[in-house]
Amino acid sequence: MKKIIRSFGLLALLLLAVVFLDIGCVFRHVTGIPCPGCGTTRACIQFLQGHVVDAFYYHPLFWLTVILLVVMVLKDGRMFRSEKANRWFWIVILLMYLSVYLVRMVLLFPDTPPMELNEQAPLWKLWETFRSR
Ligand SMILES: [Zn+2]
Repeated sequence: MKKIIRSFGLLALLLLAVVFLDIGCVFRHVTGIPCPGCGTTRACIQFLQGHVVDAFYYHPLFWLTVILLVVMVLKDGRMFRSEKANRWFWIVILLMYLSVYLVRMVLLFPDTPPMELNEQAPLWKLWETFRSR
């Protein structure tokens, strides 16, 4: 029980930090490139407002992310009793997210939300400096 409360506490702290810093995705804020999870928050908000099609546009796997977060917190990241089954489960999940990420990068990057480029990000500016020489 203590572990669950601690996990939810860490999640709540992370969410509060993102909201108060108002930087959106930390990965995109630093690198300029959207991460595989970009759009999930907007998708959840759209879903909660009843805009199901918009929710799937912002992130087709938003529903799975919510389920996985609950599984990770409540069941310690273990979906199955078998270690091998758990390993395969997480490999399939990873491949699903990477596949969706690649398709979204090809179709939406660099100027269509939620996969837009952040040209003000420090690592992107550094990249541009080296690339222009
Ligand atoms: Zn992101």
